Amino acid sequence: MTYVVTENCIRCKYMDCVNVCPVDCFYEGENMLVIHPDECIDCGVCEPECPAEAIVPDSDPAASDWINLNERYAALWPNISVAKPPPTDAAAMDGVPDKRSLYLSEQPGEGDV
Ligand code: SF4
Ligand code: SF4
Repeated sequence: MTYVVTENCIRCKYMDCVNVCPVDCFYEGENMLVIHPDECIDCGVCEPECPAEAIVPDSDPAASDWINLNERYAALWPNISVAKPPPTDAAAMDGVPDKRSLYLSEQPGEGDV
C-alpha cells in the first residue's frame, strides 16, 4: 500500500505534507505534488495534515484515478522536503471541480532550492 495525492492538490499545493513525511517521498510539479509509491512507507501522517484533503491511501476509491499519475510524475519531477509558500489563490482553488482536465501541469516544479 501507498498513499496518493489526488485532484484537490492541483493549484492548492499547501505543502504541509512535505514537512511531516519521514522519508521525504514527495515530488513537486508546477502546480501539484505527488508521492513516490516505492518510497512511501505507508505511515499515514501526511493524510490529516493536508488542508485540501487531497491525500488518500491507495485502497480508497478516490485514489484509483491517481495511482498511475503519482507513479509517473514521481519519476519525472524533483524531490521536495521543505515546504514553500502556497499559491496566492490556493484558498480560492480549494474544491474547484475538474482541476485535472482544466489545470494540471505536467511541468516540473523547482523542488528543494
Ligand atoms: S498538503 Fe495537500 S494540497 Fe498541500 S501539497 Fe500536500 S497534498 Fe497538495
Ligand atoms: S504516508 Fe508517510 S511516508 Fe507516505 S507520503 Fe505520507 S508521510 Fe510520507
